[in-house]
Amino acid sequence: KSQNGLPFSDNASLEDKEGNDNSVTVAVRVRPFGQRELADKAVRRVVSMCGNETTVTSDNGTIHRFAYDFSFWSFDSENGDFAGQELVYNRLAQPLLSRAFEGYNTCLFAYGQTGSGKSYSIMGQGNEKVGIIPRFCKDLFFSAQQARDIKQVKISVEISFVEIYNEKIHDLLGSSKEKSGKKPTLKVREHPELGPYVEGLTTFVVNSFEDVEGWITLGNKSRATAATGMNDKSSRSHSVFTIVLAQTKTEMWEGHDHSITSKINLVDLAGSERQSQAMTISGERLREGANINKSLLTLGIVISLLSEQSAQNGRKKITCIPYRDSNLTWLLKESLGGNSKTTMIATISPANSHIEETLSTLRYPFCVNCIDKL
Ligand code: ADP
Ligand code: MG
Repeated sequence: KSQNGLPFSDNASLEDKEGNDNSVTVAVRVRPFGQRELADKAVRRVVSMCGNETTVTSDNGTIHRFAYDFSFWSFDSENGDFAGQELVYNRLAQPLLSRAFEGYNTCLFAYGQTGSGKSYSIMGQGNEKVGIIPRFCKDLFFSAQQARDIKQVKISVEISFVEIYNEKIHDLLGSSKEKSGKKPTLKVREHPELGPYVEGLTTFVVNSFEDVEGWITLGNKSRATAATGMNDKSSRSHSVFTIVLAQTKTEMWEGHDHSITSKINLVDLAGSERQSQAMTISGERLREGANINKSLLTLGIVISLLSEQSAQNGRKKITCIPYRDSNLTWLLKESLGGNSKTTMIATISPANSHIEETLSTLRYPFCVNCIDKL
């Protein structure tokens, strides 16, 4: 059992009656101070971490304590605790790769206020600070080659990349444009057996990491960004990078093919800050905010219901999980429920100036039993 009372993802005893095993792992990652924060004398560090515990201390001395599966410290190497990109990848994403090869669907989300390190964690920065998506793809092809060589398994890998902006789904890899020059909006449909899918979505079969790298670069370029009062480059959209891994093995003695397909979704969520703080000016921006919150809110509800179900070892079956309340959760339905593994990285700022957002990120209902001693 992990400290927040939720199962670790490798706890095999959690299968419910239908053989479903879904569990949620939650990690907190604090980013270092930025240049401007370092130069500002009024900026104070309010976050500290010890083991799996994250502590936030208010100006009035109130201490808020949270316990999750992982706490990633990232101030400086002098602390001896620096959590770089490789460590975060190894702890959080690599286990999902093994799960994917076992046939589980997986989701990994970065959640937090704008500027707290979501994109840094999920995508990375430049050639040095490579994030989870490129590392995952590199490892995936390495593992795929091993499986081909050792187990004689046929493997195919297919990718797609979408953005959900204002509850509208855009294909980040598609080349089609409307007359206005805008990308067309795609819709989620639900197949009676295969579940929800995005109609008309571009998917690519990829054979090497170099193949994927090109598509990632293209997708990142197409991501819609809009300036907010907090951070010019901040993205107000959710991006979902999906990998479909299909493994086929021919059973010699049976003479037929046996295949398993698993989906891996790596998601960079929109900034979680409240509208007021992002200095919303126009009605358009307000609507965006309302929709973004709707997706985040629904995701929070879905994940907390799923973790509640899994914490009870499947004894209680929650039947009405509101996947269809937002496009994000609808699209990810098959990868959140059923046989699946979900990992959340809550990214936070270390500074006193962001304490309210930090607390609200840490209280986001990822986990049912986290400690917050107010
Ligand atoms: P978000 O996507 O949440 O809006 P970013 O990932 O763009 O935030 O991060 C904001 C800034 O902080 C970037 O300049 C990034 O380089 C820096 N940063 C974020 N997290 C880290 C980290 N863990 N280590 C070093 N720098 C980080
Ligand atoms: Mg970002």
